[in-house]
Amino acid sequence: MASRKIEDLTPRMQEKIKRFETRLAEEGHENFKRSCTFRSQAEQNALWKRGRYPLDIVNAAYTSVGLAPITENENKRPVTWKAVSDHTAREAVDYYQALPGIANYDIKVDVDDDKIPDWQEFVRIAEACGLECGGRWKKADWPHVQWKD
Ligand SMILES: [Zn+2]
Repeated sequence: MASRKIEDLTPRMQEKIKRFETRLAEEGHENFKRSCTFRSQAEQNALWKRGRYPLDIVNAAYTSVGLAPITENENKRPVTWKAVSDHTAREAVDYYQALPGIANYDIKVDVDDDKIPDWQEFVRIAEACGLECGGRWKKADWPHVQWKD
């Protein structure tokens, strides 16, 4: 299973992430929580198969790395665009927005009601802390931030 511990990142990435999470809290966005820091290459390989291979092959890969099996419906679309991920290099973190009862990934939600969607603010603050944001990619991956030199 993937880790959400900050200690499982490289030391330089831990520093950036600490700064980022402090800034998020200072600006009232402490409801963004880590869902994944480090993930093994075996787990990345299993995720890569989702949406690309038949269900029995995907579920064999999933269960072998400790992930719960998925349904035929869940296997209709991929969840990762990369066979090699910065998560396996310990220099990426995924977040979710913890709202009452749900993990929010809706990029239009504006909880602090300042007319700027919260995920946009998440990206602005991450970039100010020197992180690369998946939200800027052509195939946007909003929850994802990674090391940038
Ligand atoms: Zn990610």
